[in-house]
Amino acid sequence: MKNPVFTNPERIKHIIDKCDTCYIGLSDKNNTPYVIPFNFGFEDGIIYFHTGPGGKKLDILQTNPNISVCFSTDHKLFFRNEPVACSYGMYYRSVVASGKVEFVEDYDEKIKCMNIIMRKYTGKDFPYNAPAINNLVIFKLLPEIIEGKELGY
Ligand SMILES: Cc1cc2nc3c(=O)[nH]c(=O)nc-3n(C[C@H](O)[C@H](O)[C@H](O)COP(=O)(O)OP(=O)(O)OC[C@H]3O[C@@H](n4cnc5c(N)ncnc54)[C@H](O)[C@@H]3O)c2cc1C
Repeated sequence: MKNPVFTNPERIKHIIDKCDTCYIGLSDKNNTPYVIPFNFGFEDGIIYFHTGPGGKKLDILQTNPNISVCFSTDHKLFFRNEPVACSYGMYYRSVVASGKVEFVEDYDEKIKCMNIIMRKYTGKDFPYNAPAINNLVIFKLLPEIIEGKELGY
C-alpha cells in the first residue's frame, strides 16, 4: 500500500527546515532533464535560491522557468527480515514542490531574499555591498503544488 501524500503547511515546513540541500529539476528546450543540488531559504511558503551569473541552469530557466524541487531528510535503513533483500527499505521524510520560478530584480528585495537564505544556515542577517548584490542572481518559487511524504515516522 502506498503511503499517502500530505499538504499540511506545518508538516511540510518541518521537513524543509531540516534539509540543508534541495535538488532542483529543470527541463531544457529539448525536454532533457537536468537536476542540480542547491542551497535555499524558505519563508512563508516561498523557496528562495541564489547563484552567480551565467551557466547551464540559468540558460534553461530563461527558456523554461518550470521547476520541480525535492527535499529529503531523516533517512534510516530498515529491514523486516535481515537475509531478505526485498524486505529492506528506508525511512524518510520528503517534500516535492513545483511551479514557475520568478527572478528577483529589485535591489532591496534581493537583500531580503539573501537574508532569508543566510538566516537558514547561520541564524543571522548580514550587510551586503552593492556590487555583490548586483552580481547575484536570485530566483524564487511560490509552489503551485507542494506535497510531503513520510515513511516510518
Ligand atoms: C550541497 C550543494 C549546494 C549548492 N548550492 C548552490 C547554490 O545555492 N547556488 C549555486 O549557484 N550553486 C549551488 N551549488 C552548485 C550547483 O549544484 C551547480 O553546480 C552550480 O550552480 C552550477 O550549475 P550550472 O548549471 O550553472 O553549471 P555549469 O557551470 O553551467 O556547468 C554545467 C555542467 O556541469 C555539470 N554540473 C553542474 N552542477 C553540477 C554538480 N553540482 N555536480 C556535478 N556536475 C555538475 C552539469 O552536468 C553540466 O554538464 C551547490 C552544490 C551543492 C553540492
